[in-house]
Amino acid sequence: MRKPIIVGNWKMNKTIAEAVEFIKAVDPVCHDQATYGVGTSFLALQDSVKNAKNLIVAAENCHFEDSGAFTGEVSVPMLQEIGVKYCIIGHSERRQMFGDTDETVNKKAKRLIAANITPIVCIGESEAQYDAGETEAVIRSQLSGSLADLCPNCVKNLVIAYEPIWAIGTGKSATKEDAQKCCHIVRDQIEKMYGKEAADAVRVQYGGSVKPENIVEYMACPDIDGALIGGASLKADSFTDIINKTK
Ligand code: 13P
Repeated sequence: MRKPIIVGNWKMNKTIAEAVEFIKAVDPVCHDQATYGVGTSFLALQDSVKNAKNLIVAAENCHFEDSGAFTGEVSVPMLQEIGVKYCIIGHSERRQMFGDTDETVNKKAKRLIAANITPIVCIGESEAQYDAGETEAVIRSQLSGSLADLCPNCVKNLVIAYEPIWAIGTGKSATKEDAQKCCHIVRDQIEKMYGKEAADAVRVQYGGSVKPENIVEYMACPDIDGALIGGASLKADSFTDIINKTK
């Protein structure tokens, strides 16, 4: 049985004080039916970890080297030191604006796994790729690059977030049929690469304009084990609504 995992990705939002205020409000509402969490800025991670008893706290990026001349970057040992247990990698915004590639995402995944931090690996096609009917090919190719050469046992613990870029922050969410189909392709690709046991265990999230009004229909899909949520995770009320709707 896969335990669902629903994570808010705050992106470049919330000061430390705002992050702590949110966590104090939402943490007590969490229940055992699913894992709930938030991805915060690097600055807010430490206080968020300290204040979260039930919520998991995720970094939104990391560097794959442990130290060195990489101005502005944060390494995995730095995240480890403050007790971070999850890290989002390869978000489309990082791929589009900050040069992340399947190759760097793969290096980050390997470094995180070695540190016992669970990677939340993001993939998803652009609108042009969707229109050209390339969605399946893009999903398979991003996964084969981003998840290359991992041990099958490590793959079982991964979280993969399928986020079609055209659905991110647009209010234009994928239909539940499309989201299910793509999350099934994700699982099938994992099976091709690492076998059925890994494919059955890996948790696959859908992301892209998920909100209280549509979370239940996504969660009812057999291959969707959760969601990665941007806009609707920013307000305590709306995230609480999502938590209550997924009991
Ligand atoms: P929205 O939920 O705002 O569409 O963002 C999705 C996302 O990018 C989560 O990583």
